Amino acid sequence: MAQLLDGRIYAEEALEEVRAQVEELKKQGVTPGLAVILAGDDPASQTYVRNKGKACEKTGIYSRTIILPGEVTQQELEKIIRQLNEDPKIDGILVQLPLPRGLDEQQALACIRPEKDADGFHTLNAGKLMLGLPGTLPCTPKGVMRMLRLAGVETDGKTAVVVGRSNIVGKPVAMMLLAANATVTVCHSHTKDLGQVTRQADILVVAAGRPGLITGDMVKPGAAVVDVGINRINGKLSGDVDFASVEPVAGYLSPVPGGVGLMTVAMLMDNVVTLAKARAKA
Ligand code: NAD
Repeated sequence: MAQLLDGRIYAEEALEEVRAQVEELKKQGVTPGLAVILAGDDPASQTYVRNKGKACEKTGIYSRTIILPGEVTQQELEKIIRQLNEDPKIDGILVQLPLPRGLDEQQALACIRPEKDADGFHTLNAGKLMLGLPGTLPCTPKGVMRMLRLAGVETDGKTAVVVGRSNIVGKPVAMMLLAANATVTVCHSHTKDLGQVTRQADILVVAAGRPGLITGDMVKPGAAVVDVGINRINGKLSGDVDFASVEPVAGYLSPVPGGVGLMTVAMLMDNVVTLAKARAKA
């Protein structure tokens, strides 16, 4: 029976560390600040933004949410980002994705000053990750790595398989596993015989957005399985891993909900504090 990778416990621990750092910073007259831009009325995005606000409250981070109509123009959006770039109260800027149709995400992200890039999605930070240079790391992959570390899962010399190759999860988590000395394979929608590859994995990270994609027969006994997927089925959340069949096989397994999603928010708070410290020093 797999040991549960409990996001509630690990995220709470990470948030407590952030809270203590915020308290220290406030003694020095620095209040870390996060601005979140939410365009349109996607219900999932609204929930994420609300959760981010709650985490700011919990940790003492100043938070500002800017809600824009779905019809906002690229020009208006970029103007707001540029204003936040100059705003002394703001250390981190996050543009909630996906943006409404018609808006260019990459162009919007490129407007964020890399020193205020709370999500680590700016090309400069993505490039730094690729080169192994210090920079802001994307929150979900960072949360996956933190979870593995806190659970004591060894990465050095292990075989890791990542399912999914998106810029926000699959690719960066693969880079981080590589940096942690794992031997990494990345699978995607064109991969032939997914199970044959996933069965090799000591560490299996799944971020495909396909409910129940990974079943017990696709998992190596004792493997650490991290389920990043968030799927809504009839209003209920489920991951990409079929929990019932994988739990008896895996050594570690993260649940959905209560897993990586909570780590993502905690790592965002961690990023904001790091950015605030860097800005205070500059
Ligand atoms: P995406 O749609 O951008 O990418 C999905 C990837 O999965 C693609 O690279 C695709 O090739 C691959 N894929 C799709 N079907 C596949 C299949 N049958 N076999 C192998 N690979 C397949 O998605 P994303 O933004 O990377 O998100 C992935 C999932 O993670 C979604 O469910 C999303 O909601 C979730 N997510 C969760 C968090 C979190 O905090 N827990 C954060 C971001 C995304």
